[in-house]
Amino acid sequence: MNHDLELVADQFRRLPGIGVKTARRLAYFMLERPAEDVNAFIKAITDARKKICYCSICCHLATSDPCEICGNSERDHSIICVVEAPQDVQALEQSHEYHGLYHVLHGALSPLDGIGPDQLKIKELLNRLSGDEVKEIIVATDPDTEGEATAYYLARLIKPLGIKVTRIARGLPAGGDIGYADSMTLAGAVENRKEI
Ligand SMILES: [Zn+2]
Repeated sequence: MNHDLELVADQFRRLPGIGVKTARRLAYFMLERPAEDVNAFIKAITDARKKICYCSICCHLATSDPCEICGNSERDHSIICVVEAPQDVQALEQSHEYHGLYHVLHGALSPLDGIGPDQLKIKELLNRLSGDEVKEIIVATDPDTEGEATAYYLARLIKPLGIKVTRIARGLPAGGDIGYADSMTLAGAVENRKEI
């Protein structure tokens, strides 16, 4: 394979879940597309990347700061649903069951990988709790070891502040990923949340 193709394949390899073979397949695929298709692909990514920022309140990916959700007075500002990743917000929004606010941690506690509280947006979450507006924190981290550890860590920090901490119901596949759960399952998990 020539050098230029290898460079394109290297870029695809950086994407999550893409191995060497798939990266090469994608590189061949893209380079065989008409030039205008390739340009449209690059332009879509470049344009979106230029517009994207992080909401300074909830740390979600956004195109404005505060984001559309934090800036929406119709939403219930007394509940914050804590998730690991921006795509989890999207999944919960699609379930149409939840009308509160969010907080994106950008990961979960994983001491073996060197991810402690300081690597997550926990300080930013605590800053949001200094007033008395927030009455409940729903912890919707993934139902795996790291997600559970994060949930209990947050409960220990937040309950002493007099704020109710709940965990979304089980019923999500264990070890699963909130971002890929179907809307019905997610809606049920939020509705049947339990206090921790
Ligand atoms: Zn926000």
